[in-house]
Amino acid sequence: MPITNGDVASNGVPLNRDLEKLDWRNALEVLKEYKSRDGLDVHDLLDSKKNGALTYNDFLIQPGYIGFAASEVALDSPITKRISLKTPLLSSPMDTVTEENMAIHMALLGGLGVIHHNCSAEDQADMVRKVKRYENGFISEPLVLSQKTTVAEAKELKDKWGFGGFPVTETGQLKSKLIGIVTTRDIQFHPQPEDLVTEVMSKDLITAPAGTTLLEANEVLRKSRKGKLPIVDKDGNLVSLLSRSDLLKNLNYPLASKLPHSKQLIAAAAIGTRPDDKNRLQKLVEAGLDIVILDSSQGNSLYQIEMVKYIKQTYPDLDVIAGNVVTREQAANLIAAGADGLRIGMGSGSACITQEVMAVGRPQAAAVFSVSSFAARFGVPCIADGGIQNVGHIVKGLAMGASTVMMGGLLAGTTESPGTSFVNREGKLVKAYRGMGSIDAMEDKKAGGGGKDSKASNAGTARYFSEGDRLLVAQGVSGSVLDRGSVTKFVPYLIAGLQHSLQDIGSKSLVELREDVGRGKVRFELRSVSAQAEGNVHGLDSFDKKLYS
Ligand code: GDP
Ligand code: GDP
Ligand code: 5GP
Repeated sequence: MPITNGDVASNGVPLNRDLEKLDWRNALEVLKEYKSRDGLDVHDLLDSKKNGALTYNDFLIQPGYIGFAASEVALDSPITKRISLKTPLLSSPMDTVTEENMAIHMALLGGLGVIHHNCSAEDQADMVRKVKRYENGFISEPLVLSQKTTVAEAKELKDKWGFGGFPVTETGQLKSKLIGIVTTRDIQFHPQPEDLVTEVMSKDLITAPAGTTLLEANEVLRKSRKGKLPIVDKDGNLVSLLSRSDLLKNLNYPLASKLPHSKQLIAAAAIGTRPDDKNRLQKLVEAGLDIVILDSSQGNSLYQIEMVKYIKQTYPDLDVIAGNVVTREQAANLIAAGADGLRIGMGSGSACITQEVMAVGRPQAAAVFSVSSFAARFGVPCIADGGIQNVGHIVKGLAMGASTVMMGGLLAGTTESPGTSFVNREGKLVKAYRGMGSIDAMEDKKAGGGGKDSKASNAGTARYFSEGDRLLVAQGVSGSVLDRGSVTKFVPYLIAGLQHSLQDIGSKSLVELREDVGRGKVRFELRSVSAQAEGNVHGLDSFDKKLYS
């Protein structure tokens, strides 16, 4: 029976004191009568006097209004003052996480891999070079062979660089008359390795004239059905080269982090702040480095401030990210020195024991909010580094104001990290993962500690100790993580998860998310211990936690 005005419930409470307001049509009007919105705004949430210093698991984001498809959510975000990525995901400069293979794949997928420096400067520069060479528009400095090169030598070059399409010129140099092209197929099964490449090369070449635009050259290449298109000047001298495989790479990886003019992948690498690191940096810059990260667990130091200034002065085209920091005061020094970006986190990493041993650090959500809201006033983007265990943590780091997040442990188990997977004592497939401040990484004596194929050596990292130290104090541990398969599957899962999360929140882009958080539109909720238990799988006898398919 419908309730009518004046009806009273059995406990005496009138059922419809004000029929007009009970009318469902008035819900939005009635909502306006509330003085504040449901939930907390970010400032109330992170009021440490009331709530203590929070980390990602201590809060939730309230859902908003969905008015768009998840696939429409834009994840573009800056990493430095000048450079933006299409995916806000970075891999950490750790010797069990990022060498060239991870750096190449993270960049192809729209993020960035930061190459570690626990190796010789030459090895690190080699890795940067491989990232830069991986994809091209015009290959402006192609490897060129001379007429005296043998088939065996060409094969060696192919093994070293991974590509086997070489133009042959009169002098063996660029800007000299092009006389042929050797490709993998020409040399692969050639029975006489001592023969000259001139005997196997193709001489009937399709070329394009210097001055052709990339768009036009790509079209010639597409139509030619050849693998390479040499670009020559009016006298027939080779000036650059185009490769068909780059057209495919561009097609297959539409989000790739590339520089607009060269179409090369963006390369980032970490260094320390010792005098020697200046020599290391010079080698990295010569190899084509675009972004350098100053890798220190406590970045607010004289050394780092001087290094930032030195880099900005010496290499104005190189972007420098300073850190790590967790407070406004630390950040202010580095911003004032000229840092193009900041990295936030101290002691939140999964393999890290800094907070336990040093008693310094800060819960990550509090650190990210405090530093990035300050840095935003100067247009300095921030990286939320460490403590990311799932997609939810990525969203929370970004909601706290970070522009990008950096992951170590979450990516260490992928195929693209250094080393190979192995079966542990429980029969699980795992991969080595260690903190850069672990005794293992500092000494790097344990064979294969950085992974069997890792270039890690004791030539490098001084992030956690000084040369005068007689005793090494560990700030990290050494262990393993579960094998995760390829980042080419895992990162797209993270991206899709992020888009769905932003859709739930009601923000159509990361820019909008940061604005919506700042003006109190996005609301938060503190999460008690029991709320955390409720939010995790509970009450099941057993379950299989498959994250994506
Ligand atoms: P896009 O939208 O990412 O392809 O970038 P642009 O609009 O700047 O592309 C201009 C032209 O360059 C198009 O013909 C693209 O296909 C081509 N292009 C983009 N990336 C690459 C690359 O890595 N190599 C080559 N050869 N061409 C590329
Ligand atoms: P190839 O046919 O054996 O030369 O190898 P692919 O065509 O599969 O790979 C060539 C890839 O290496 C492309 O993405 C190029 O942009 C890149 N690359 C970088 N530097 C060079 C170079 O000097 N010569 C050639 N051939 N490719 C290069
Ligand atoms: P994860 O993603 O595994 O939680 O954290 C990765 C981050 O932990 C790295 O980017 C780096 O900032 C930090 N880290 C790496 N090694 C160590 C270490 O040995 N000690 C400390 N304190 N932090 C580390």
